[in-house]
Amino acid sequence: MGVEYVAQFEELKKLLKEKNNDVDLSVLEKAFKLADEKHTEQKRKSGEPFIIHPVAVATMLAEMDMDMPSIVAGMLHDVIEDTPVTTDEMREMFGEEITYLVDGVTKLKRIPTSTKEELQAENLRKMFLSMASDIRVIVIKLVDRLHNMRTLQYMNTDSQITKARETLEIYTPLAHRLGMTKIKWELEDLCFKYLEPESYNNLVAQITQRRDQQEAYIKKVLDSIKARLDEAGIKAFLDGRPKHFYSIHKKMISQNKALSQIYDLLAIRVIVDTVKECYTVFGIIHDMYTPMPGRIKDYIAMPKPNMYQSLHTTLIGPDGQPFEAQIRTWEMHKTAEIGIAAHWKYKEKGGSKNSGEKTAEYDGKLEWVRNLLDNQKEIEDPNEFAQTFKMDLFTDEVFVFTPKGDVKCLPKGSTPIDFAYAIHSAVGNKMIGARVNGEIKPLNHKLRTGDFVEIITSKSNNHGPSRDWLSVVKSSEAKSKIRQWFKKECRDENIERGRECIERELKKQGYKYEQLIKNEWIDPILKKYKFSSYEDLLNVIGFGEISAQKIINILKEEYIKSISGSKEEEILAKIEGNKNKKEKQKHMSDHGIIVKGIDNCLIRLSRCCNPVPGDSIVGYVTKGRGVSVHRTDCPNIVAMSESEDRVIDVRWAGESKNTYIVDISIQAVDNSILLLQIAKLIAEMKLPMKAINARTTRDNYELIDLTIEITDRSELDRLVKKINGLENVLDVSRTVK
Ligand code: MN
Repeated sequence: MGVEYVAQFEELKKLLKEKNNDVDLSVLEKAFKLADEKHTEQKRKSGEPFIIHPVAVATMLAEMDMDMPSIVAGMLHDVIEDTPVTTDEMREMFGEEITYLVDGVTKLKRIPTSTKEELQAENLRKMFLSMASDIRVIVIKLVDRLHNMRTLQYMNTDSQITKARETLEIYTPLAHRLGMTKIKWELEDLCFKYLEPESYNNLVAQITQRRDQQEAYIKKVLDSIKARLDEAGIKAFLDGRPKHFYSIHKKMISQNKALSQIYDLLAIRVIVDTVKECYTVFGIIHDMYTPMPGRIKDYIAMPKPNMYQSLHTTLIGPDGQPFEAQIRTWEMHKTAEIGIAAHWKYKEKGGSKNSGEKTAEYDGKLEWVRNLLDNQKEIEDPNEFAQTFKMDLFTDEVFVFTPKGDVKCLPKGSTPIDFAYAIHSAVGNKMIGARVNGEIKPLNHKLRTGDFVEIITSKSNNHGPSRDWLSVVKSSEAKSKIRQWFKKECRDENIERGRECIERELKKQGYKYEQLIKNEWIDPILKKYKFSSYEDLLNVIGFGEISAQKIINILKEEYIKSISGSKEEEILAKIEGNKNKKEKQKHMSDHGIIVKGIDNCLIRLSRCCNPVPGDSIVGYVTKGRGVSVHRTDCPNIVAMSESEDRVIDVRWAGESKNTYIVDISIQAVDNSILLLQIAKLIAEMKLPMKAINARTTRDNYELIDLTIEITDRSELDRLVKKINGLENVLDVSRTVK
């Protein structure tokens, strides 16, 4: 039996020699010897010696043109995990690079991957990428998995299903993202076979039944295309293939169709030397057959995010049976089949290699990753892709394990407290300590990806979080849950404090308790804020979530309404006593603003946020300069409202002929004609422009500050919408000084 794997290793060496006659195989031989010796006691489930597995993995990597360190690491990938050899010993024998790769694969193996939830699967995929900071580690891991899936028949049914599910959740999406289509398809078909054996066998039988007929059909199409290409003098490789089973199966399910209704069951592939020839072939095929509308895709001009390139088109064949044609160059073909691995070409030709060449090659690899990052913009769910592809660029998240092996994704800098609240608020509220990787750690310990975290909770029912935690935790989830606890647990205190706030506010505004606190007015407020009792309302007032002033103001309005059925302005006049209407209107027309409760005072629109009619506004009683009016979202007023007694209600008077000054800030991609476009737009809307000022930032964005006169909010909104619609504009906002 031993002879067989030795023969396989000889095959591998022959393959590498064929690719490059001068290749140095000494390191690989050393690796084979070590693996053979160390794995010697181990058997695979099939009863074969274990060493056939690493030999197969190394061979598959060689077939993909991976570089020598990857192939050697493939040979050694199970040595650290399964034999007494240590990382240090390996480093001694094989050096840093190979050991780094083997170590990376070993680490991935320790990630527990059985999971039930889709969210978990996504976290696990991210974790894989974040832990394998070298893409070659992922490639080796995928090839390892592929070989294990190929030999899955020796496992029992339970393990088959577990492995297949894990493969479909974690490994095939990774293969897809890395553009490793060939591996992805084979893995998917294998998973399909073990997860849905009936559907699989059924489909295979149906396809086999039609195979002869279809092969004849494909041959006929290929022959006629070949003849036309020969005529045109184009050297091309033609090939026909049935689609892989899993993709047909998915299509039948998602489109609810029978096999006979799937259009692109048959696909032909034309591989040529140049991009120009791709388009020529495309033209020729369209001249021969009628294309199906809406099915032409130019992935050459617009590569897929995983860098896949080809021209796709579906045509009506000779008997009216549709087929799909894929046209690509050899280079595109390689990328289509092995994706990212195509960029680790093993090409140490001629033995010596100057450093310039090596640098160029390295740049090529970086380029690839950069392209992936750039292209993510075009995919439907950019977030997911961006997050997933960060590799060691992961800067904003850590992934840690629960004792059960679930993965929690937390913001970087998170502590065991964040983790506890991510599990459940009950766990967080009761936590008294944490073990990280088995060791007790302080509660402000920063967690790292891969940590196993166990929370120690108090047995006592009286235990709760500490207020200090609010400054320690990183996640907003933990923060809000801690706040929530204080809101709930200190309810009695809060209610008491809330009652005091209300009483103080009543006194300040000069009302008696029984004047304003009436059930008929309170009830609508409770309903609006979804409180079940007046005490609930007092609780949040006491907790500081809603101000007493706000509630009193609402009640005051009700009170005013109740003492008179007439219009508000008249009421205002009435309660203020001595005002006449004429004066008030004259007063309003200066600014178009009514100040409730106060009259005949100096009003000015604040220059920091420049409110316009339609904005939600609030007044602030300044010292000696009357009332200044701010937008409610103005950061300045938010800061000032600490002194709540100075903040008063104001509102727009309705129609007004006034104009208002507004500052707008526009952020855009550097674009020479943008300023012109904006100016034109404003002219079209007949708006008086007061100032415009543009500058380019250091990172090449364009910032445009615009000051403009408008009559109300809706006009402003229209303008903002139009500017937003201009190409290259990233953001339009109102400026607050
Ligand atoms: Mn393995």
